[in-house]
Amino acid sequence: MKILSFEGIEGVGKSTQINLLKDFLEKNKYTVEVLREPGSTLTGENIRNILLDKGSDISDKTELLLMFAARSELISKKINSLSCDYLLLDRFFDASLAYQGYGRNLPLSLIKDLISFTDCPMPELTILIDISVEEAFARKINDQKDRIESSGIEFFNNVRNGYLEIAKNNVNRFLVIDGTLSINEIHNAIIKKLNT
Ligand code: ADP
Repeated sequence: MKILSFEGIEGVGKSTQINLLKDFLEKNKYTVEVLREPGSTLTGENIRNILLDKGSDISDKTELLLMFAARSELISKKINSLSCDYLLLDRFFDASLAYQGYGRNLPLSLIKDLISFTDCPMPELTILIDISVEEAFARKINDQKDRIESSGIEFFNNVRNGYLEIAKNNVNRFLVIDGTLSINEIHNAIIKKLNT
C-alpha cells in the first residue's frame, strides 16, 4: 500500500486535490482509501470534536496529546489493517510538527518522539500545497472557523513557514506545489510526480 499525505494550511486545496486524485486512481483500476486527521475512527471523531470545538478551553499541550491520541487510534484501528493500493491522508504527522511545533512552539524533539511512539508509517510521498495565509483565508471567507482555524494570522504564518522548513529538511519525501496554480495544473503536477 502506498501512503500519500496531503499537507498545508486550511484552504490551500487539499480536499480538492485528494478527490481528483482518488477519481484518477480509481479510473486506473487502483483501490483507494481516504482518511482525514484528526478523526476517521470512532474515538478519533470524538477527539476531533473536542479539538475543533470553539467551546473547548484546552492548553497547547493537551491539543498536542489529543492529536496524537486520535492519530494512534487511526494507525492501530484503521491504517494497519488496510489493504488498498493507495491511502490518501488529509494531513498526517507533519501537521503536528507544523501546527503544534512551529505554530504553538512546543518542542519539535518531543513531537518527533510521539511520531515514533505511535509507530506512524512513513508516507511514500507528502504533497505540500503552499499559498499565502491571506489567500487561504480569502478562499474560506464564508466558512465557519473552528477552534484551531481561529488562531490568527501570525499563528498561520508560523505554521506555513514550518511546513516549508519541514519540506526543506525532507526533500526526498516532499513535493511542494504552488497552490496559486490552477486546480488542474496542481493535479497534473501530482500525477507527474507519481509517474516518476
Ligand atoms: P483544504 O482542503 O486545503 O482546506 P479545499 O480543497 O477545501 O482546501 O479548497 C478551499 C477552497 O479553495 C475551495 O472553495 C476550492 O474550490 C478552492 N480551491 C482549491 N484549489 C484551488 C486552486 N488551485 N485555485 C483556486 N481555488 C482553489
